[in-house]
Amino acid sequence: MSPPFRVLPRLDDTNREFWTGGAHGELRFWRCQDCGFYLHPPQPICPIDRSKRLAPEAVSGRARVASFTINHQPWMPGLELPYVVAIVEIVEQPSVRLTTNIVNCEPGAVRIGMPVRVVFEHHADPDGDVYLPLFEPDPEAS
Ligand SMILES: [Zn+2]
Repeated sequence: MSPPFRVLPRLDDTNREFWTGGAHGELRFWRCQDCGFYLHPPQPICPIDRSKRLAPEAVSGRARVASFTINHQPWMPGLELPYVVAIVEIVEQPSVRLTTNIVNCEPGAVRIGMPVRVVFEHHADPDGDVYLPLFEPDPEAS
């Protein structure tokens, strides 16, 4: 089954690690090497300590649902209805929030605070393949 149509991000040096980490099964964010703060969206300077020593690092891929809506409208072709648009917070640093879809789950079963884990949706693209981070229920979460 081919993935649904998506508007794909344009890759550049600041976001490439985020959008292509899925090739290695990794959810990656820029992280301050001095204080450990994750920067998302990417910024050139750490907002905590003004450090410029930043590097991409993988996180666990675990997160919690902060909010969600169940979408019954076919805003984009190819998406199976209904689908869940959610904001998730990564467990390492809840201020890092991603707007994403919850997949492999009945839309009616999604709850605020539900533990989820990343799964990647691969999109081949002549400008560089993209791996969209989506989330599914995490069966190993306590
Ligand atoms: Zn810092």
